[in-house]
Amino acid sequence: MAILVTGGAGYIGSHTVLFLLEQGEQVIVLDNLQKGHAGALSDVTFYHGDIRDDQLLDTIFTTHSIDTVIHFAANSLVGESVKRPIEYYENNVIGTHTLLKKMLEHDVKKIVFSSTAATYGEPVQIPIQESDPTIPTNPYGETKLAIEKMFHWCQEAYGLQYVCLRYFNAAGADPNGRIGEDHSPESHLIPIVLQVALGQRERVAIFGDDYQTEDGSCIRDYIHVMDLANAHYLACEHLRKDGQSGSFNLGNGKGFSVKEVIEVCRQVTGHPIPAEIAPRRSGDPASLIASSEKAQTILGWEPKYPSLETMVEHAWNWHKEHPHGYSTENKDKQ
Ligand code: UDP
Repeated sequence: MAILVTGGAGYIGSHTVLFLLEQGEQVIVLDNLQKGHAGALSDVTFYHGDIRDDQLLDTIFTTHSIDTVIHFAANSLVGESVKRPIEYYENNVIGTHTLLKKMLEHDVKKIVFSSTAATYGEPVQIPIQESDPTIPTNPYGETKLAIEKMFHWCQEAYGLQYVCLRYFNAAGADPNGRIGEDHSPESHLIPIVLQVALGQRERVAIFGDDYQTEDGSCIRDYIHVMDLANAHYLACEHLRKDGQSGSFNLGNGKGFSVKEVIEVCRQVTGHPIPAEIAPRRSGDPASLIASSEKAQTILGWEPKYPSLETMVEHAWNWHKEHPHGYSTENKDKQ
């Protein structure tokens, strides 16, 4: 049986596809390449199209014997979601509704979903547990939470089996350097810092140094993208064994401040990486750290690359080899 991966040309999607292929899985990718890159695609059956295209979904589900869907395809930037909520509801909620309707029509009842720490909003405790309140502070988190709830009710009504993986901060790249992280424009901390090391930016802005944290900058829990990929594989295995549906945090349970991340990048790259303090970015909680005990106990997940140095090393190796990401052109990343 095959696994359909929506959004399989994106950052986490493409690393998951690679990981699944290494486990001997048969993989079909559906991606509209709005944010994803054709260059990130492994040697798989690829459909260039949208999850809202129900005719295309009919074709895919009738052509292939698919038992499980891993669903990444989504808009995923917090700041953008605040400015363009209609787009986020359209692509994330309506898109998933179309996908789910077609899955159920074709009797495909297992889904692993790319969810997020943004479903929690401001944490009530650190580390965050899955049973904590979910009160998102932005449309991105709201759309992901709405989808999680849709899965719950479809389980009750139609016997859908689901695993929602609530990621904290994905980082790093394929340890063998085949694929990596490339967003345009870039907004994530580690790739931006590495662009400074590559001489593509003069400095990195630290968004706020007056948070209630030890050094005043925001604290995040970074997780290697290949450890995320492994979790998706384990979630498929779990569902294939009729394991219980639910939501699972994925992080390392250890927080790094923005200033600490920059320092690690200085050590790994040997570049001074100038930084300046800038105003806070709206919607940023001071500290987000996961308890991943549930994923460890129920899915049998164990991070292989928990060290931030290793994540930065793998990212740096890829960025050095691909200074313009998947583009072969010399594009301005500022
Ligand atoms: N950040 C920063 N400068 C940047 C980009 C990000 O200080 O140029 C901070 C951001 O405010 C957050 C942390 O780095 O506290 C991680 O941000 P990122 O966008 O990588 O991931 P997010 O936490 O939004 O998922």
